[in-house]
Amino acid sequence: MNIDLSMVENIVKKVMEEALAEGGQKEETYSFGVFETMEEAIEAAHEAQACYMNNSIADREKFIAAIRNVILKQENLELLARMAAEETGMGNFEDKVIKNRLAASKTPGTEDLVSEAMSGDDGLTLVELSPYGVIGAITPTTNPTETVINNSIGMLAAGNSVVYGTHPRAKNVSVVVIQMINKALQEVGAPANLITTVAQPSVENTNILMNHPKVRMIVATGGPGIVTAAMTTGKKAIGAGAGNPPAVVDETADIEQAGRDIVLGASFDNNLPCTAEKEVIVVDQVADYLIFNMKKHGAYHIEDAAELKRLEAVLINEQGNPNKDYIGKSAEYILQAIGIKPAGKIKVITAETDKNHPFVQHELMMPVLGIVRAKDAKEAIDIAVEVEHGCRHTAIMHSKNIDNLTLMAKKIQTTIFVKNGPSYAGIGAGGEGYATFTIAGPTGEGLTSAKSFARRRRCVLIDGFHIR
Ligand code: NAD
Repeated sequence: MNIDLSMVENIVKKVMEEALAEGGQKEETYSFGVFETMEEAIEAAHEAQACYMNNSIADREKFIAAIRNVILKQENLELLARMAAEETGMGNFEDKVIKNRLAASKTPGTEDLVSEAMSGDDGLTLVELSPYGVIGAITPTTNPTETVINNSIGMLAAGNSVVYGTHPRAKNVSVVVIQMINKALQEVGAPANLITTVAQPSVENTNILMNHPKVRMIVATGGPGIVTAAMTTGKKAIGAGAGNPPAVVDETADIEQAGRDIVLGASFDNNLPCTAEKEVIVVDQVADYLIFNMKKHGAYHIEDAAELKRLEAVLINEQGNPNKDYIGKSAEYILQAIGIKPAGKIKVITAETDKNHPFVQHELMMPVLGIVRAKDAKEAIDIAVEVEHGCRHTAIMHSKNIDNLTLMAKKIQTTIFVKNGPSYAGIGAGGEGYATFTIAGPTGEGLTSAKSFARRRRCVLIDGFHIR
């Protein structure tokens, strides 16, 4: 089912009206976290954080449970997924439901904050993880609601409040998820405005957010521009930037499984996740069988040179960069654009190319994969390292050879390295470990969680409380 933008605006308006009716408070100050100006949003979050300091850790857990519960209601999961897909024109409803559920259920809460103790003849020293205060969190258009859910749980668990700089192309759904969370928080007695934003996001507003003296930490999830901007504010910044994840397949891999998993990972939310397989490098000996298996699981493999040219002309602009109109579109939509109507369900488009092809070099964020042949595993790994461009983000390898897996891990240095599975296993979907939607390669926090949003503070007691 599709919904139009006027319907979305009406939903936002209705939530705001409900807020006023129930709270009876001034719209510009208490509209469940949404404000007209960035200054108001920051002031409100600042006040909220001061109140929040009076809450116990048990209170924090109760508030986080309320966030999880409200998002996990099926109608809310579906509303957010549908609105995000519709408003941004990117990704797909089904996978956005999965991503929102993952964020709500597998983002760690206060259990992530573990204190350290050092005791001895001189007494007891504690290292505690305490809040920064107000965090400015900038969210991407590719995961607009997932990032708000994930960041809110982690940042609130650590005792902070959050002001969101959302993407203008996802402003309505961002408002809805922020209000939904604030409303749920208010119902369980949390301070108002623990998470805030502006009704009209813009680059100017995000710049005000990043440079405001009351904002103590910046967490930027997005492309290179915003990560650099965040890191030059002079504040503590976490940068979660772009990647270009290669999937390497060597001759020892389970090729049937590799073919299936690469299609699953690369088609997830139409390849929007920064972690999704963006190109394939395969050892020549098994390349044909891999392509056969990818086709079996929903790949449309382009062999005709003229067809490939048409695809390039549509997806790559005159400057040699990805055509933004096709980011996050489905494989079938892209094929239609070049006049192809395949029989059966198509999930990804593949084509053999050399390693310098834009389908390999660029983070397309489209279910379109260049496949590059290598003579052996070593060459495949070297190509993967080259095309990952030092983002140190995510890489995938299908292999049964421990030496090859170790060599790849050592050489590519990515924050996430998934072995023998689809890329999304790396963020906790079908793989062990918690979930995150802010993967901080550039600044080194890795898969962020509550402890990434906390300051380490030392508390020293002399001569007492050691009982050894
Ligand atoms: P984007 O960089 O265009 O926008 C991200 C956010 O930053 C938006 O809210 C945008 O409004 C804001 N913004 C961008 N440039 C700005 C500037 N100069 N000043 C102020 N605000 C600015 O990215 P996007 O298209 O929304 O998201 C896709 C990108 O994000 C991809 O490169 C993807 O790899 C990356 N990403 C990374 C992670 C991660 O965890 N590492 C997660 C999701 C997305």
